[in-house]
Amino acid sequence: MEYREKLKDKKRIVVKIGSSSLTHPETGSTNLVKLEKLVRALTDLKNQGKEVVLVSSGAIAVGRKKLGLKKQDATISEKQACAAVGQAQLMMMYQKLFAEYNQVAAQILMTKNTMVNSISNKNAKNTFEELLKLGVIPIVNENDTVSTYELQFGDNDRLSAIVAALIKADLLILLSDIDGLFTDDPNTNPTAKFIDVVENIDEKLVHMGKSSSSSDVGTGGMSAKIAAATIATSAGADMVISNGNDIENISKIINGDDIGTLFIANKADDFELVDYLEN
Ligand code: GLU
Repeated sequence: MEYREKLKDKKRIVVKIGSSSLTHPETGSTNLVKLEKLVRALTDLKNQGKEVVLVSSGAIAVGRKKLGLKKQDATISEKQACAAVGQAQLMMMYQKLFAEYNQVAAQILMTKNTMVNSISNKNAKNTFEELLKLGVIPIVNENDTVSTYELQFGDNDRLSAIVAALIKADLLILLSDIDGLFTDDPNTNPTAKFIDVVENIDEKLVHMGKSSSSSDVGTGGMSAKIAAATIATSAGADMVISNGNDIENISKIINGDDIGTLFIANKADDFELVDYLEN
């Protein structure tokens, strides 16, 4: 399909990986093999001359494991403490793995305020531009330790779409725990059909997205992914939702293979990122 062929030419790519893709479901510990494959795949994109940004969840999940806390009944401050521990731990692993491929990585932590405030918004944008110019792979997460409920992005699906819009990326890849978008929840409805390409995000689709992701580790269900797709495509980026279980999906997508659900960019003439910051 012609749409898929065009993915080969994408130059500025944001990849988002969720906590459930980075941890073993049985133990909650980090899936090191997957982390290593991810780092290799992203470095390889860089080696192909593309600019790459990673939005990685996992701070809370990694910190929780490290501190031996249970997910159930964690208070907000407990989660924030987990994020403080886990984010540093996660970056340590990323830095080590990227270093093995001689790739420099950077950390960018954002809050919704970073985007709402026009000065910090501009600063964030300039920093991304500078890092990409220097050949660095920025690794982004929400600054969970200081984000209060009112000022949260909501989830990293949305954050990655906002980042894609901010830096005018031409492709966003969401690595999820599901193959893509289905007409219904495939876990409960065996007749649910897979959707290969979405040209327009209409009411029907938004309604379909109500069926949620099966994961209990991250925060973004399917409706969060459709909200992300709305932001990314309106900003002018294509977006693909695909399964993070197979990290090879990244290179397959860039190769134009039929992987995941592709949302086609539909740039709105009057696109203003601030209009999309409300949850
Ligand atoms: N920022 C959260 C974390 O790193 C994840 C949020 C999300 O997955 O949507 O743990």
